[in-house]
Amino acid sequence: MRDETGESVDVAVIGGGISGLAAAHRLREIAPELSVAVLEAGPRAGGVLGTTRRDGYLVEGSADSFITNVPWAIDLCRRLGLGDRLIATDPDRRRSFVVRKGSLEPIPDGLVIMAPSKIGPMVRTRILSIPGKLRLALERVLPRGDGSDESLASFARRRFGREAYDRLIQPLVGGMYTGDPERLSVKAAMPRFLEMEQKHGSLIKAMRAAGRAEGPKAEGSGARYGLFAGLEGGMSELVEALVDRVSVRAGAKVDRLERDGDGWRLIVDGEPLSARSVIVATPPKAAAGLLRDLDGEAAGLIAGIPSTSSAIVSLGYRRDRIDHPLDGFGFVVPFAEDRKILSGSFSSVKFAGRAPEGSVLIRVFMGGAKRPELVDADDADLVRIASSELASLLGARGEPELAVVSRWRGAMPQYEVGHLDRIATIADRVAAIPGLEVAGNWLGGVGVPMCIKAGEEAAARVAARRAAAAGMA
Ligand SMILES: Cc1cc2nc3c(=O)[nH]c(=O)nc-3n(C[C@H](O)[C@H](O)[C@H](O)COP(=O)(O)OP(=O)(O)OC[C@H]3O[C@@H](n4cnc5c(N)ncnc54)[C@H](O)[C@@H]3O)c2cc1C
Repeated sequence: MRDETGESVDVAVIGGGISGLAAAHRLREIAPELSVAVLEAGPRAGGVLGTTRRDGYLVEGSADSFITNVPWAIDLCRRLGLGDRLIATDPDRRRSFVVRKGSLEPIPDGLVIMAPSKIGPMVRTRILSIPGKLRLALERVLPRGDGSDESLASFARRRFGREAYDRLIQPLVGGMYTGDPERLSVKAAMPRFLEMEQKHGSLIKAMRAAGRAEGPKAEGSGARYGLFAGLEGGMSELVEALVDRVSVRAGAKVDRLERDGDGWRLIVDGEPLSARSVIVATPPKAAAGLLRDLDGEAAGLIAGIPSTSSAIVSLGYRRDRIDHPLDGFGFVVPFAEDRKILSGSFSSVKFAGRAPEGSVLIRVFMGGAKRPELVDADDADLVRIASSELASLLGARGEPELAVVSRWRGAMPQYEVGHLDRIATIADRVAAIPGLEVAGNWLGGVGVPMCIKAGEEAAARVAARRAAAAGMA
């Protein structure tokens, strides 16, 4: 739409990652009368999400699946007609490994990051020493904490002891956030564990109570797919389905956002664009820049959310070139092992169809809070490091037949201690600016479903305000 002052839309969504796309799509569903433009600085929509097909391999650039015990991603896929494209992880190989002294040891069955639901596997595991296991078992009788925020590392050590933290919990948590659990907030990143402690006095007791309540045949909302689901054609299917339904302008970087009467004026690559409402759905650094002149305090708080960088090296091998049976979904590496990689994901074991017949695809994660400098190494070095680590850990022989490198700089926000208070203040301050909303992976969760939720909720607030304004007119 164009008026005498230039182009105008009802709603401008800044950032075309999954958060922004979900916001625009929700507006189309609930307020189809509004004109909505998604402005994406990069050459394509999707943000970090993207899938590449090469030589018979299907390679995910970042996320390859999403958690199914919350509804937002599954629901959106179904509304987009992708219900029959959802795929489950292979039920026969749903286990992972942790590296101990250079070997892959299975993570004890029933362990949910730090909460063990089965005693037998914890007793039998070779990952922990006997004193380490005894200290872990003591968790049942330890007094509960006062429920205040603390780092994930301090919480885990307090409940389960140093060895269980160093050898098991740190690599599992670190693998999820590519972060340092010494800094991550238990309340913001994993509130469920704090709630278990507060309610049951012990995570072990809480898991057993949950097991009894559910019974052996209980099925959670995600049971059909296992805890994680993917898409047959990769995460790009989700992005493409959204892009088909909303208006996205790629290569449209928003440089400025300013008040214009009771609406907004955006400067998009030097050109003005007017909007009645704006949803900022960029990473925190860009969001802080856009909000700086509108609310310096909110911008400062957003800018204070750190993010880690990582690289993923996806390597394809002929199956017979790898000695390890690859009888699981992958492995995580404790900091204590002092290796150059954070984790490895056996992509073609996890999901069928990710590698050609007779070959396997393994994604190797590097960088993160502890080794950020690796992200700046050149592709050849990253491939060399990843393949030599797989040679040592899995017995991978010779050159990989496929190597794809993806780099994600500042892409993973870190929910550090105090994050929830920070977010609450940001939310209050943004709510006081009429016609402005924020969404993104730095608010209520980094996973794809939580980004969708944040985007859809921002859209609902915009639609509600517009409806209220129309009602008053
Ligand atoms: C390596 C990696 C692996 C992951 N694995 C998983 C997983 O397995 N499962 C899972 O659920 N989650 C996973 N995640 C997390 C999840 O994928 C992300 O948190 C989520 O996709 C982020 O979406 P977003 O839209 O909030 O941000 P982004 O994807 O970062 O999108 C933000 C967009 O804003 C654009 N932008 C920035 N500034 C401007 C501007 N000024 N004007 C216009 N546009 C701008 C950017 O170009 C970008 O496209 C992973 C993340 C990473 C990095």
